Amino acid sequence: MRCPFCGYNKSRVIDTTHDAHGNIRRRRECLQCHQRFSTYERVLRSKPMLIKSDGTREAFDREKLLRGIRIACWKRPVSATALERLVDEIETRLQAMGKPEVPSRVVGDMVMEGLKHLDQVAYIRYAIVYLGLDDLISIRDEINRLLETD
Ligand SMILES: [Zn+2]
Repeated sequence: MRCPFCGYNKSRVIDTTHDAHGNIRRRRECLQCHQRFSTYERVLRSKPMLIKSDGTREAFDREKLLRGIRIACWKRPVSATALERLVDEIETRLQAMGKPEVPSRVVGDMVMEGLKHLDQVAYIRYAIVYLGLDDLISIRDEINRLLETD
């Protein structure tokens, strides 16, 4: 690591701090000019594989997820940006888990949680597909649950 002031390549670490995402920040002092500077080490994480309910594995597919959420939000007052943001958030949370694989329902639950705040009609549409609600009674129960938690 070269000193940004004089270009010398030796420095000593004065202080090391870790943030919540596992990234490391080091405060350094140049051994030649004694100026201080910081370096930052970022953890690169890959996303976990998703374990489907039938036990097969599937790679996380951002486009596929976005497509499903878009369908649920069809003709609802939800902006494309909000949908992108929700998917970004889900991706980040998956990476932060740092696991090689997670059940795919983890992703479904995150979508449900996000849609609950974005648009309740979209939430119910997604729930019908995702929870496999196939009769009016279970759909009504889900709506009641939604109304109760408000
Ligand atoms: Zn220096």
